[in-house]
Amino acid sequence: MIAKPPPREGSMGFLLLPPYRVQGTSIAGETTCVQIPELDVCFDMGQCPRMALASKYVAVSHGHMDHIGGLAYYCSQRHFQGMGEGTIVCDARIAPSIERMMSGYVELERQNTPYKLVALRPDEEAQIKNNIMLRGFEVEHTVPAFGYAVVEKRSKLKEEYAGLPQEKLRELRDRNVEITRQLQVPLIAYLGDTAPGPQLIRDEVRKAQIVICECTFTEPEHKERARVGMHMYAEAIAEWLRVLECQTLVLTHLSRRTNLGYARKRLTELAGPAAMRKVQFLMDHRTNRDRYDRQVAEAGEKVGPIREDTDD
Ligand SMILES: [Zn+2]
Ligand SMILES: [Zn+2]
Repeated sequence: MIAKPPPREGSMGFLLLPPYRVQGTSIAGETTCVQIPELDVCFDMGQCPRMALASKYVAVSHGHMDHIGGLAYYCSQRHFQGMGEGTIVCDARIAPSIERMMSGYVELERQNTPYKLVALRPDEEAQIKNNIMLRGFEVEHTVPAFGYAVVEKRSKLKEEYAGLPQEKLRELRDRNVEITRQLQVPLIAYLGDTAPGPQLIRDEVRKAQIVICECTFTEPEHKERARVGMHMYAEAIAEWLRVLECQTLVLTHLSRRTNLGYARKRLTELAGPAAMRKVQFLMDHRTNRDRYDRQVAEAGEKVGPIREDTDD
């Protein structure tokens, strides 16, 4: 009998959630890397898919291998391909370990891979684009772990000055009158690996346009495993959905064994069909491709090059 070729590697998850794309791969214990190309950021780098190299920032949630295994490779490849140094944003508690890991590679390779490391304490921010900040906050997991919120800062004219002519406003500004106030718009929240806790109802999480969170366990008999591993599970997601204001909740980090049809059915039973309308699974390739095809048809356009990257 003739030997078979190796199986094809799994494809990237992809959701078009205008104005953002959420793409990458996430399987519990194996790898998680979720990229938002429009924001130049990846969340976690369990393995480094080629497309992730294009993002200048990687926000690392915690040190488990399925979230950082591709981090050194990402930095090295970006440098090798002439894309500039990568910037790692992480929880200050794990920054020294990341530095030691990176210097281990310098020793092994006998060459220096340049990278930037931005260590955040809770509620500190790193700027990733003009007026767009990446804010870290603690979540609850078996090791030190962070979640992130991408927050846009907009300045808005104070109500008392609305409707004034331009020259009047200029005059006030010249007199150093503070005519604007700062508005914080949470765009995206990424929770990493987390047990349910108060971090889920932080303002910038609850009000984010897109929330990306793990849901490692969906079966009722796995609740104890979720508790021990400090992970999210179906009941907690359903309860959380009642207070989430997001347009879309993207679920990641399901185990490879989880049947997505079952997961969807069980969550629908718990949360109700109305709440489920905002829930998407990053790795549900068939559903997501149908959804994308409908988006393309509605836009009246031909299927673009994005489609070519998403085969089964
Ligand atoms: Zn994980
Ligand atoms: Zn973990």
